[in-house]
Amino acid sequence: MPHSPAVEVRGLVKRYDGRAVVDGLDLTASAGQVTAVLGPNGAGKTTTVECCEGLRAPDGGTVRVLGLDPVADAAALRPAVGVMLQDGGLPTGVRAREMLDHVARMYSRPLDTDTLAERLGLDAFARTTVRRLSGGQRQRLALAVAVVGRPRVVFLDEPSAGMDPQSRLAVWELVRELRDGGAAVILTTHLMEEAEDVADHVVVVDHGTVLARGSVPELLAAGVEPGSTATLVVHTASDVDPTGLRERLGERFVVERRSGTSLTVTGAVVPATVATTAAWLAERDVLVTRLDLGRRTLEDVFLDLTGRSLR
Ligand code: ADP
Repeated sequence: MPHSPAVEVRGLVKRYDGRAVVDGLDLTASAGQVTAVLGPNGAGKTTTVECCEGLRAPDGGTVRVLGLDPVADAAALRPAVGVMLQDGGLPTGVRAREMLDHVARMYSRPLDTDTLAERLGLDAFARTTVRRLSGGQRQRLALAVAVVGRPRVVFLDEPSAGMDPQSRLAVWELVRELRDGGAAVILTTHLMEEAEDVADHVVVVDHGTVLARGSVPELLAAGVEPGSTATLVVHTASDVDPTGLRERLGERFVVERRSGTSLTVTGAVVPATVATTAAWLAERDVLVTRLDLGRRTLEDVFLDLTGRSLR
């Protein structure tokens, strides 16, 4: 069977007041995969997905969802596309559970709303109006509404914003199930841990264009060379204030205190960095109990690509 991408964005341009906030962006998302659009705030992630959702018309380039134009073919796409907007986008006067049941009735083959409500913990606030929900509760309801119609394509904009860790896990479990059921899931996030955890495919975006794309292992392996960012984790037997170490290593390194007895050095860590750190600690009679070179993360990849931190 020919395999066309669920979402295909080519050379997308979107301008606000003459300024291109999306500037020639390419994006492909496939069925049965979670695609994460990762980038700092203001990178153009929301604008990009809003163009895919048909909420904004591009100023240039093309957007195809399931082979259709999200603006011109909005009616045809509606039953097949689930959308979770950043602010929830839900009517504020409706009770949570009524909202979900109402939306479910609009689809021919909806998910069982009792099960969905239980999984996302909606029962705890079933009779509360949307207006009075907390940010995290509103997010969970918005997710339920986005997926209840068994969409083939799901857009989730910063889905875990404001959620507690337990809800976040429930959300990721649901996202994985949707993917395993063959849906194309496209999520935006500025949290690299989130992208690392759930994404099959990551598109790193900054200033409205794509800096890098690939699977998480591909991105982590790409471009590792002397000078790439790494993190040195030092565990000590006693408390240590790393202020002086910052001065010793210079401004190319970020020295952070993790707890009283551990600190991290992030930057282009080489053996000399380790030696300097160890010598500085020895001068202070601090016993080093463990030295680890931390795992490379997508944060390090972003730092190497842009010279800036993602947060
Ligand atoms: P992200 O989702 O990556 O944080 P956005 O797509 O929300 O980025 O925003 C990209 C840029 O576009 C930001 O500088 C933002 O201020 C600007 N922007 C977004 N929406 C509008 C709008 N409706 N009018 C003017 N500028 C906007």
